[in-house]
Amino acid sequence: MKLFGLLLLAIVSVAASATEPDGRFAQAQNRTFKAFDLQQEQTWQRPFFFMQLADPQYGMFSGNKGFEKEAALTQQAVEHINRLRPWFVIVCGDLTNATPKQARYRDQVAQYHQDFSQIDADIPLVCVCGNHDVGNRPTSESIAHYQENFGDDYFSFWVGGVFNIVLNSSVLKDPTDAADVLAAQQTWLEQQLQTARNADAKHILLFQHHPLFLSQPDEPDQYFNIPLQRRTPLIEQLQRAGVRAVFAGHYHRNAYGTAGEMEMVTTGPVGKPLGKDPSGFRIVKVYESNLQHQYWALEDVPETVELTAPAKQPAPKP
Ligand SMILES: [Zn+2]
Repeated sequence: MKLFGLLLLAIVSVAASATEPDGRFAQAQNRTFKAFDLQQEQTWQRPFFFMQLADPQYGMFSGNKGFEKEAALTQQAVEHINRLRPWFVIVCGDLTNATPKQARYRDQVAQYHQDFSQIDADIPLVCVCGNHDVGNRPTSESIAHYQENFGDDYFSFWVGGVFNIVLNSSVLKDPTDAADVLAAQQTWLEQQLQTARNADAKHILLFQHHPLFLSQPDEPDQYFNIPLQRRTPLIEQLQRAGVRAVFAGHYHRNAYGTAGEMEMVTTGPVGKPLGKDPSGFRIVKVYESNLQHQYWALEDVPETVELTAPAKQPAPKP
């Protein structure tokens, strides 16, 4: 009987873990990310690197029929992540291809959870919502669906003296049915930028799904950027606060531009490419006075990541 009881307990706990998001997908809560200690992480410690992924978009290759290719590419990325051991990993949206109302959404989310759970438990995984995750015209309902599976849609966190802000860019793209969410995010953002400045952050970084722009801050509106109406004031706000770089995805290929000193970095997909850049991810090295980042195809990722000291403090010879 005792054995039967244990067996029953095991079955019940497996069933529970299959329906509830894993602890690592419930980290973005109360507008922060629980894995990072708020006090300790405000202090600069040493150079570090993180990895930025975008658009795993489970289901895209097959038009939602399956997700074998996306799963295989993610598994390849996870092997690199566990070997390289970044301080954290951030996935800049379009986690699945189906939107919350579509039939295949649950299966795609389950596979995403399963594959990304293979990242070593001590490497935090930060998820960002994209237009497929909350819909092209997000509503409070679609955002609530996302939150059930992945946590908050916008939040901030400190890592080693660097202040990181994650935005829900889908409400910036089209706020028609979520004007209140955009307004709340805007008020919150201004407070966050103030906090970062008051606390003397080494760098302020921003992450979202849609690029603000691909190459020029004033380029015309199109599918892949944020409309000028909301883009121009946001860029001014970010520049005033001294934001160093914005990281995005959505384009399924790489793009780069600057707005004054601020970098706009658009990263190719870990999933299906739509241009010449193959599936891959970006390695971002964070030094006290600057950032260095590079996109790597999954086939070409280096064996290790070297953090060279900045020029002012030459590294000791090995
Ligand atoms: Zn997208």
